[in-house]
Amino acid sequence: MVLLKLRIHLKDHKITLVRRIVQIITFILINYVIIETIFAINLKGFEDLIKVLPILNTPRNPLSQGAGILEYIFFSIANGFFPLLLIAVFILFILFTNRSFCGWVCPIGTIQDACAAIPTKKKTPKTKTHKSLLNVKYVIIIILIIFIIPLGLTRNTNQLFYLEFKTQLGEFGRKPIGYFSMSEFIFTYFIEFITDWSTIFNSGDWGAIFIFLFYLLILILSIWYPRIYCRYFCPYAAISAVVADYSFLKLSRNPVRCVGRSECGICEKVCPKQIRILEEPFEFFTGNGECNICLTCKEKCPYNAIIIKFGNV
Ligand code: SF4
Ligand code: SF4
Repeated sequence: MVLLKLRIHLKDHKITLVRRIVQIITFILINYVIIETIFAINLKGFEDLIKVLPILNTPRNPLSQGAGILEYIFFSIANGFFPLLLIAVFILFILFTNRSFCGWVCPIGTIQDACAAIPTKKKTPKTKTHKSLLNVKYVIIIILIIFIIPLGLTRNTNQLFYLEFKTQLGEFGRKPIGYFSMSEFIFTYFIEFITDWSTIFNSGDWGAIFIFLFYLLILILSIWYPRIYCRYFCPYAAISAVVADYSFLKLSRNPVRCVGRSECGICEKVCPKQIRILEEPFEFFTGNGECNICLTCKEKCPYNAIIIKFGNV
């Protein structure tokens, strides 16, 4: 009987179970320093691969000064190099996989999911507040572009302007995305804070202290507001949301099977991104690019009404 119950439970949570396994494995692989620590080995030999695939980044990588692909792209642009091939790969990746990276791989998403797994009553901001807050990440990315593009354009054409502007931007010019990236915070600042917090407090670097407290607050809030950083603040989310709307990979809702909000509405209740699935078109929905293809709605739909589509199939 117990075995039967367990089998039914696993069947009902098959997608979540597979997703959790993928999240844990990719979390360890991306932050392979963990493997080094656990098994007392040195994987420095893999760092050339990491430089080619900055998506597999760690704070130890001196090339990107960041902890992810977008950090690498912005860092390169700020130094006068436009990584067009990488930008093209980045866009193609989202076109083919939508935002499944956010739902299945991103270590910051995994950390937020772990926070949200703490059993508490989840909260949802009012729709109007939620819609306004969604724009914060676009404001962040626009600020980044406005400051970083002139740096990239003048690096090789107007050294005087470049050097002066970069000096004025200070730490922001050196690590453009640093202050806006939670992965930067967790995998770089957080480690520095933990190991050397007294020096940082004594140095009076209030910018770094503010960032530390802000992201700490975001992490705590993600216990009640799932994926709060992804929804409102992540620069990667801002860019990928724009591309994801055109992705070949999508979800659609079968209008014959779906019984609607008044009789069910489970999909909307379980969506960690607060997407109004039932107000989206039947043919496909991305929630304006917010859907991260976690497939929780598909898993929980009692009528099997949510379908994965690729292209026009
Ligand atoms: S959970 Fe399924 S049946 Fe229920 S409202 Fe959502 S799509 Fe329709
Ligand atoms: S719409 Fe479905 S797949 Fe997309 S984020 Fe919400 S629950 Fe996940």
